[in-house]
Amino acid sequence: MSLTTGAPAADITQAFPELAAYARTTVRLHPRRGTPDVRDSHIGGPLYWPAAESWPYCDRHKDVNGRPQGPYPLVAVAQLTAADFPEIGFPAGTDLAQILWCPEWHEQPHPEGWGQACRVVWRRSDEITDVLTATEQPDPEDHWDHEWDMLPRACVLTPERVVEYPWREELPEDLWPRVEAWLEERGLPDDMFTVPGCKLGGSMNWATTDMPRSLQCPVCEAPLALFLQFDTYEWWLGTSGPDQRQDRFRPLEERHLADHSREFDASREPTGMTVGRGSHAGLFLCAADPTHPPSFFTQ
Ligand SMILES: [Zn+2]
Ligand SMILES: [Zn+2]
Repeated sequence: MSLTTGAPAADITQAFPELAAYARTTVRLHPRRGTPDVRDSHIGGPLYWPAAESWPYCDRHKDVNGRPQGPYPLVAVAQLTAADFPEIGFPAGTDLAQILWCPEWHEQPHPEGWGQACRVVWRRSDEITDVLTATEQPDPEDHWDHEWDMLPRACVLTPERVVEYPWREELPEDLWPRVEAWLEERGLPDDMFTVPGCKLGGSMNWATTDMPRSLQCPVCEAPLALFLQFDTYEWWLGTSGPDQRQDRFRPLEERHLADHSREFDASREPTGMTVGRGSHAGLFLCAADPTHPPSFFTQ
């Protein structure tokens, strides 16, 4: 089944041709609970992990008396293949990206403050011959109970490419106020900017903190680019505008689901994660060298 985003509230470049230069394609991942194969692209679920390679652990845990606890296995967050996502700038010779993190927040040097310390592993899939089976991989439930906000449930992906316009602070200073006034006059939502939900690439909404003044790689100072956005919700509830418009990000194929039914919740909150207190977060990579350490910003 494919999942389809609705049309935007307006063709914004008709009114603002200068926005056309900022159009980007982002990939909505449309995660939905399922049982992905170890080789597939997915969120949560087992990774295509070489049996000979030790699983990564987090050793930064202490009990209330300061005694070390753990180490605890990192959680498999996502796996993306070059076949499904040719737009990923894979390092030379690789075709598989694996993302892991510790579901607990730790102090991190970059960005400053607390957050998810992520690991991104790049592999060449045909070099992996002996694979750690799903049952041989650490079961997150043995170590982390599902109260943890950042423990993704296993989801299959249905990628959809969508054009979006970037966050307002990425536009020339005078442009956004004019766009905002134009939308407000017409009672239209700004649903052509920063696509919500889990997505690959594109631009992140920084409404909570404003965009950091510098988004630079901690190693080489090249710009950081959004790699993956994780979101608590895939789309917003309810209606907006004078014509009671449906949120365009609720897939056309799922609009018949009764509000707050089990299927509805599974469509709206598929990963079961509560990201950034019910908002979203971005995993950013160095634009010059994606093997440099990733940075994780929550909203
Ligand atoms: Zn940890
Ligand atoms: Zn770098």
